[in-house]
Amino acid sequence: AEQRLGFLGRTRQFFSRMSQTVQENDTLTEELWDELLESLLAADVGPNTSMWLIDRLRQRAEEEQMRTGSQVQRALREELTSLLDQPSPLRFSKQSPLTVFLVIGVNGSGKTTSIAKMAHLLTREGHKVTLAAADTFRAAAIDQLKVWGERIGVPVISQSPNSDPGAVVYDAIQAALTRGSDVLIVDTAGRLHTKNNLMEELKKLNKIIQKFVPDGPHELLIVIDATTGQNALLQARTFAANIGLTGVIITKIDGTAKGGFAFAVADDLGVPIKFIGTGEKVGDLIPFEPKSFVEALFT
Ligand code: GDP
Repeated sequence: AEQRLGFLGRTRQFFSRMSQTVQENDTLTEELWDELLESLLAADVGPNTSMWLIDRLRQRAEEEQMRTGSQVQRALREELTSLLDQPSPLRFSKQSPLTVFLVIGVNGSGKTTSIAKMAHLLTREGHKVTLAAADTFRAAAIDQLKVWGERIGVPVISQSPNSDPGAVVYDAIQAALTRGSDVLIVDTAGRLHTKNNLMEELKKLNKIIQKFVPDGPHELLIVIDATTGQNALLQARTFAANIGLTGVIITKIDGTAKGGFAFAVADDLGVPIKFIGTGEKVGDLIPFEPKSFVEALFT
């Protein structure tokens, strides 16, 4: 895991500097808390989460009678780890032969690429995957998913651009069941700004899925681009609570010095991070492990 987290290099610099600064303090002063807050913000942990962390650490420092920066540093590590929650593997159906994952995200977030990466990973684990191109709004999105499908040897069920996403999902479920797939990943629209439309669309898709797979969909994942930082989070937050989101995929974490974004995501959206995208290649998707992530940041 250590080696695979090598991409964190730039983020790691932020955190190790933060860690050093805190540890250098023999006493706990106001400057220490100010500096720590600044460092957290610089690493894109986000204002809400950063301020919450400072409050929490100050409270603990008092209760546990901490005297040195080293003690604060250890507590910081603990709090960051617990912000991220437990590792959260994908949920598979226990009653139906088919498990269905829905994936949403704005254009350019890395949604199509992440779906291909997931399909590749699951195929390598022995699953038989089918993909559904239900983001029918953009012709390019359909084509792109097909190209990926060919590359990784996974069938992509699609219709013409602007067709009804529900019809695509219906077709895809039939195709998946017929060919004995155990996983169907649905590429769903990325128009998050039209919150109501998306919610209506998801409701419709859920109905169709539940006709054939009563306990589905088993995951509703949102793809968020780490390089767009707090803006992307704001957008996701406005509707996350209403649509039954079950997890997050953070992409392009390799291209940013601000991997601290992961903490803001987990804290703000209140759903686990399932995967992180670490590059453009099909193998560049890592199941998220909170402990290794935090450890990699501080070593
Ligand atoms: P979509 O519009 O959301 O479907 O986005 P795409 O899947 O087409 O991805 C947009 C761009 O981001 C492409 O050039 C991808 O290669 C790139 N991309 C996706 N995920 C990652 C990632 O984890 N790391 C990096 N560096 N690039 C990524």
